[in-house]
Amino acid sequence: MIYLDNAATSFPKPPAVAKAMLHYIQKVGASINRGVYAPAQEAGMTALLLRESLCRLFGHDSPAHCVLTPGNTMGLNMILRGWLREGSHCLVSAVEHNAVMRPLGDLAGQGVTFDRIPCDGTGRLDPEEIRKRIRANTRLVLLAHGSNVSGVVQDAAAVGQICREYGIPFALDAAQTAGHWEICFKEWGLSALSVPGHKGLMGPGGIGALLLSPEFAAGLTPIISGGTGSVSDLEVQPSYMPDRFESGTPNLPGIYGFQAAAEFVEETGAAVLKEHETALTARLLEQLRDIPQIRLAGPWELAGRTGVVSIDFLSVDNAAAASRLEQEYGILTRCGLHCAPAAHRTLGTFPQGTVRISPGWFTTPEEMDAAAAAVAAIARG
Ligand code: PMP
Repeated sequence: MIYLDNAATSFPKPPAVAKAMLHYIQKVGASINRGVYAPAQEAGMTALLLRESLCRLFGHDSPAHCVLTPGNTMGLNMILRGWLREGSHCLVSAVEHNAVMRPLGDLAGQGVTFDRIPCDGTGRLDPEEIRKRIRANTRLVLLAHGSNVSGVVQDAAAVGQICREYGIPFALDAAQTAGHWEICFKEWGLSALSVPGHKGLMGPGGIGALLLSPEFAAGLTPIISGGTGSVSDLEVQPSYMPDRFESGTPNLPGIYGFQAAAEFVEETGAAVLKEHETALTARLLEQLRDIPQIRLAGPWELAGRTGVVSIDFLSVDNAAAASRLEQEYGILTRCGLHCAPAAHRTLGTFPQGTVRISPGWFTTPEEMDAAAAAVAAIARG
């Protein structure tokens, strides 16, 4: 089996991840903030180490403002639903995931308006296009840092600069870049950064993080409230961080696994992870260039793109091609619209979708060659 669906979720995980989760389940068992006995202290310390690690990885300096979430979709919902009010206007790109577009659609029914910043045929956005669409009531700019369909990575530093000029909060969905791409929370002027634990950060599913600037956190309404194990004499949500946004017993096996994964990413280094990804992508693209029966939905250039390689087969049905990749070659890819119909409209691959190949840290160059050869064989019939 050749696993090439790392954009959906990375696999395999570093061995330390399963080890840490097993350790928690077999040896710890306690929750955080709910007891003062030793295992509970250890669990609390693990959560703190995770917050500190994520702050170092993403250029933030306040672990208390690193909220642990049940995943990236929840983090994005927390931003959108907790910040936008009736009368608010929001700007997003034309290649957003449904984790952004569906909450925005719900909010549109509650008097929130939004505009999509157009992108070129590869999914790349010109930050200057943002200026033209800013209105007096624009309260948020939210972008996918990397597209899960075309692989394009937006110039977040330039967007951050523009948002700063206008005093508009800027939020980034780093589903496709967290772990292997440089992200500078403070330097880019981010107000919010949502990351999943299970993709490039190589942790388990069902856990993520939402990093917030203190100013944005102060104005953000929690969309969930409940027990936090703190100020339990009051029936109102605590105002301090991160408890304000962390109600209920958290996913502790997930926290342990995520902490081990973040440590692995830190030790390996984002630059090394990215270099590996780029080398694999270069190798794949070079071989795909020679196949006229496919169209690439995304850029051929390596600069400013991740390892997400979306292919539109011109000679065969894309779903049939993905099925043959698995059945005949043991290659696991993802076909369809990848929860991002808007991106496919921009790329000209709606409604047929694409076959997406996405390598990860454990992918080898030989696996890229095998994928290219299989794509060629299927495309050429
Ligand atoms: N945004 C983007 C760009 C994504 O690729 C994904 C995952 N496919 C999400 C949001 C949602 O993340 P999750 O499913 O991990 O909650």
